[in-house]
Amino acid sequence: TPEKMTKYEKIEQFVKGFKLSSLTYKRVMHLLNDEMNNGLHESMNYHADIKMFPTFVRALPDGTEKGKFLALDLGGTNFRVLIVRIDQRDVDIQSQTYLIPQRIMLGTGIQLFDHIADCICRFIRDHDLKDETIPLGFTFSFPCRQEGLAKARLSKWTKGFRCEGVVNEDICFLLHEAMKRKNTTTVDVEVVAVVNDAVGTLMSAAHTDRNCEIGLILGTGCNACYMESLKNVGLWEGDYEEPAQVLINTEWGAFGDNGCLDFIRTEYDRELDTYSINPGKQLYEKMISGMYMGEIVRLTLERLSMEGLLFESADRDCELFHRGRFFTKFVSEIESDHDEFFRNTKQVLDEIGVTNYTTEDCNIVKYICTLVSARAAFLASAGLATLINRMNKPEMTIAVDGSLYRFHPRFHNLMVLKIQELIKKGLKFKLALSHDGSGKGAALVAAVAMRLR
Ligand code: ADP
Repeated sequence: TPEKMTKYEKIEQFVKGFKLSSLTYKRVMHLLNDEMNNGLHESMNYHADIKMFPTFVRALPDGTEKGKFLALDLGGTNFRVLIVRIDQRDVDIQSQTYLIPQRIMLGTGIQLFDHIADCICRFIRDHDLKDETIPLGFTFSFPCRQEGLAKARLSKWTKGFRCEGVVNEDICFLLHEAMKRKNTTTVDVEVVAVVNDAVGTLMSAAHTDRNCEIGLILGTGCNACYMESLKNVGLWEGDYEEPAQVLINTEWGAFGDNGCLDFIRTEYDRELDTYSINPGKQLYEKMISGMYMGEIVRLTLERLSMEGLLFESADRDCELFHRGRFFTKFVSEIESDHDEFFRNTKQVLDEIGVTNYTTEDCNIVKYICTLVSARAAFLASAGLATLINRMNKPEMTIAVDGSLYRFHPRFHNLMVLKIQELIKKGLKFKLALSHDGSGKGAALVAAVAMRLR
């Protein structure tokens, strides 16, 4: 009916900002490539949003690594301690997850590292690892300026962490100091490498795939790393011995912080940013990653509801109208509905307290989810296509990890299609889910470091 037409046309007015053309994605790639060059350039790095930190990881695993390693994983939802035994191709991992309470995430650095040291001691006791020195690989997934494989200064907190007194400090030093305060003479922990989750993810996959030179995280945050020739790294202060390459941690989540992506940001992106704990920061990440995608959907649904285009009789006090109450996993669940029964969608709506919805409402909710997740997948694809084109290798494997990529029903396929469209003709690529990046990956970096000692 004409009345319906008007309604859908009206909805379109509020969501058309999520639909971007291929030309727009190509413009984003162009901007990203320029920003990456700025980041790599010594004299421009200070002002660059994308920091392109050299990681000091110069070699990928060659399959000969072996030994026993401790690994720590801090950088998002959970904190984990792992013991990783590597023997040729066999990797055995035992791990324990510990909660980081919000009061510690927003407390002092001393509290944070004391908490980490406590967990390590508990783990060592529970796993009977006393009386030995165990090399440790630390997956610390926040932007760090590295001065060596085991020296990393935090440049800023992201993803909901904000502990006082850590920015600019060497996090290995802080960990060692915290371990000293524990007074445990029975165990010696030596941090031999600090990596982030993207690097760990890449290392883990590169252990068995020689073509793997890009690592991507689509979880709480969004970040990527890749192998770059030293001759392109103006920032490099280490030696130029073979292999003349180094893994670059792009920290591309900060892309757009200088305003260059404002032409694609919607009213919902702006509102999300305003009420985040780091306004104006991590703008590319905020359009993509799991910490934010659900909220973008929620803000859109809220707007449509205010305009009388959705949930006509929704209760204004329900969760839908509260910040942060619509999780990204809901988006995955809703998009997994494939028929007119909308089983998952209804379950989510019930869970967030929306009552009296119609089937048409369900359809609209699912439509909004598909628009927001497709934009996220396509923006991440534009980033990867930029790297693939830069590296210009005939075959490239991209190691990917993170719950958003793992669990969203369409992310992988959307990305494959979009990357195909955006890369130079003739280049081949593969997106491969990487397992245990932060455990196995960190241990492998430690192993490679020990091998090269
Ligand atoms: P991290 O990146 O913190 O190491 P994860 O890879 O598990 O850990 O990512 C956590 C993020 O993934 C959270 O922001 C969460 O919203 C999102 N997430 C969790 N489950 C799902 C899901 N089923 N679908 C999409 N996103 C999810």
